Amino acid sequence: MKILLHCCCGPCSTASISRLLEEGWEPVLFYGNSNIYPASENELRRLNLEKVARFFGLEIVRAPYNHEAWLLSVKGLEAEKEHGRRCVKCFEYNLREAEAASRALGINHFTTSLTVSRYKKSSIIFEVGRAIPGFEEIDFKKKDGFAKSVRMRRSLDLYRQSYCGCEFSLRDSANRDDGNAFPGSQVRAESESLASDTGAGTRGARLAGEKEGESAMAETGAGTRDTCLARE
Ligand code: SF4
Repeated sequence: MKILLHCCCGPCSTASISRLLEEGWEPVLFYGNSNIYPASENELRRLNLEKVARFFGLEIVRAPYNHEAWLLSVKGLEAEKEHGRRCVKCFEYNLREAEAASRALGINHFTTSLTVSRYKKSSIIFEVGRAIPGFEEIDFKKKDGFAKSVRMRRSLDLYRQSYCGCEFSLRDSANRDDGNAFPGSQVRAESESLASDTGAGTRGARLAGEKEGESAMAETGAGTRDTCLARE
């Protein structure tokens, strides 16, 4: 049976796809993640997901990157810390997008790789998902999921992000950090290099109206810490 998998990033998707296949699902990968800032980081994570998709022989369905719309959805919650109310809204944004994509594709089930992370409470993600028709509560961190994502990230040589995704998580990682600068230029360089490795562009169907990535934002000077979705 088909299931649409919202993929937050390459590393978390590895274990999620693997588990879905083991359990007899036919996963269709979905990537939007308008929460990720800057656009170059969204693209870098997408290119790494493409590596994963190629490994499993799967296609990626994409949604438009619309960071402005995402910002509106979390308006008033910018000062919240990671794991707070802004993150609940963020989960809802991505899960509703996944649900819309699954409906458009005639797929009756969807779920998310977000539950792989040890730093995201699956119970909160499930609570959000329960309100959306078709959501399957699958805790991908269970059954050795997190450790598997780490192993596969290494074996596939995937990029490991250093912050959760939005500019606010970047800010918070800077506040916790010991002074290393956020490697915005490195992100762009890796993105470009991956783009030439992969032929960048787009495999897989795109949902209508995709807005091409905006130019990379100015470097923030923010620091980094090991706070990615698949932190090891
Ligand atoms: S910290 Fe992560 S989960 Fe929370 S709002 Fe930002 S991107 Fe979304």
